[in-house]
Amino acid sequence: MNDDIKQEKMKHEMMRGILTIKSKTFLSPHYISVVLEGEDLKNFKNAEIGDNNKLLVPVKGSKKVIFPITGVPQDETAVTVMRTYTLRNLDLEKQEMTIEFVAHGEEGPASAWAISSEIGDQLGVMMKKKDKKIFQPADWYLFAGDHTALPVISVLLESMQENAIGEALIEVRGAEDMIELKHPAGVNVVWLFNATPGIGSALPELFRWAKIPSQGTRFIFAAAESRAITEIQDFLKTLPALSRNEWKAYSYWKLGQSAHE
Ligand SMILES: Cc1cc2nc3c(=O)[nH]c(=O)nc-3n(C[C@H](O)[C@H](O)[C@H](O)COP(=O)(O)OP(=O)(O)OC[C@H]3O[C@@H](n4cnc5c(N)ncnc54)[C@H](O)[C@@H]3O)c2cc1C
Repeated sequence: MNDDIKQEKMKHEMMRGILTIKSKTFLSPHYISVVLEGEDLKNFKNAEIGDNNKLLVPVKGSKKVIFPITGVPQDETAVTVMRTYTLRNLDLEKQEMTIEFVAHGEEGPASAWAISSEIGDQLGVMMKKKDKKIFQPADWYLFAGDHTALPVISVLLESMQENAIGEALIEVRGAEDMIELKHPAGVNVVWLFNATPGIGSALPELFRWAKIPSQGTRFIFAAAESRAITEIQDFLKTLPALSRNEWKAYSYWKLGQSAHE
């Protein structure tokens, strides 16, 4: 196989494995860090921290992960569901992969699993190698997100140069969910509180007040509940001075809807 074909194949390669819980920590009342380990970690050597993955989460009292077969829909009796999360950290030397889960209650299988899972429990992980890096170097940054975006925003903040400047707006349930973040001194981190996630987010309004510099390059990243993101996208599209490649805004979940894959 020639090098071009090899590289093209690698780009879209599916990395997957069944990992087990090495440790689990409540970083705050609604935010759980799960560190995974296992033989299959070697399959993720090409994974990028901050990229999203597909988790296969055991449900209905099952502890076992079974990978779906391509083209065969999962039926009602399936004992795993698939959900999208962020690769928060990967340390192949220490043999650790970290995923951070919002504990939003028992009605979501992924949230329920994160709350009740124990050391040694299995989780399936699938990731594709992406062409584009999530972080985009710029002269000024604005990151905004609700609790589900905290993992990716944490990665973005950790990817910045020490002299970077900008703002990070992070919405969590309450002051008890604020956590220590590593970020450059020139990036102002603002915590917002919303006791009803998905309803009445202040993020779209704060976007309207953000002082986006008119000079230099900008990188804006937003991820949150669908309705807030639609408002943010609509607003950003009205800014003629901002070019389309300077912002990304993603819906991470939808209020009242299960994230069926
Ligand atoms: C690219 C991408 C990356 C993501 N990364 C992360 C991550 O690293 N960590 C993380 O926690 N989430 C992340 N999410 C969001 C996560 O996929 C959703 O929150 C997902 O719905 C959770 O699945 P579940 O099984 O817990 O709930 P579901 O079965 O999908 O939903 C059940 C119910 O819970 C509600 N619900 C779902 N999420 C929340 C929430 N956060 N707060 C309140 N109600 C909710 C739904 O509206 C629905 O009514 C990411 C999403 C995307 C698209």
